[in-house]
Amino acid sequence: MRSLETRGWSMTRSDVHAGSASVRRMLAANAMTPTNLARVLVVEDEADIAALLELHLRDLHASVTRCDDGLRGLEAALGQPWSLIVLDLSLPHLDGLEICARLRLSGNRTPVLILTARSSESDRVIGLNVGADDYLPKPFGVAEFIARVRALLRRLPTNEDNLQRWRIGDLVVDAMRRDVQRGHEHIALTSREFDLLCFLVRNSGKVFNRAQLLNEVWGFSNDSYEHTVSSHINRLRAKLESDPARPRYLLTVWGVGYRFAEH
Ligand code: CA
Repeated sequence: MRSLETRGWSMTRSDVHAGSASVRRMLAANAMTPTNLARVLVVEDEADIAALLELHLRDLHASVTRCDDGLRGLEAALGQPWSLIVLDLSLPHLDGLEICARLRLSGNRTPVLILTARSSESDRVIGLNVGADDYLPKPFGVAEFIARVRALLRRLPTNEDNLQRWRIGDLVVDAMRRDVQRGHEHIALTSREFDLLCFLVRNSGKVFNRAQLLNEVWGFSNDSYEHTVSSHINRLRAKLESDPARPRYLLTVWGVGYRFAEH
């Protein structure tokens, strides 16, 4: 039986199909409504990994379409609405970074989770800079993959969220259109900046520390990433506040964290 250990998966193929059924059931039991009926595009040219991803995504009740080529992956990504795109970086014909960049240039904001054997800091930063929502270096464990997928799918607007539109001072935050306006000006936010803003606005007045925000908006907890929250808050302030040094909306609660001004 061929082991997938070398690819970073701590399971053999037989585990995946039989022995680990209880683990899969346990992970799937945690799948909540947002993953139901989610449509996931997996662009991955390594058949073993693609099959494994598909198996675990189906356990989350997602429907899965696989593509093993970069050009066809881009075509599929642009051609249909998806809940999530899982994108390998090294692909035949078109690199994953290029796919992600072209998607975002076209205005497509589908959440993208990048998978890659490259794990250097610069690749991670490049991945996030071209508009990927999250980045998972290979090797990674199944539980981590599922946690990231669930976090990204949780960010899809529910029916209730779809109707939400908040007017706060001179800001209008429209969850359905994922649009923010200040006065008559549309403010360009990255996908993650928008999610962070939406989370804080939805919970106006409540204080969150950086670890909580990382967990709620990014879907994972890791001390070494907490500075990411601060840098996103700073960027949001620069875009939304008329005086970022004296914020009116995104308030710091010293020694604790951040809150959005009550409205
Ligand atoms: Ca590859």
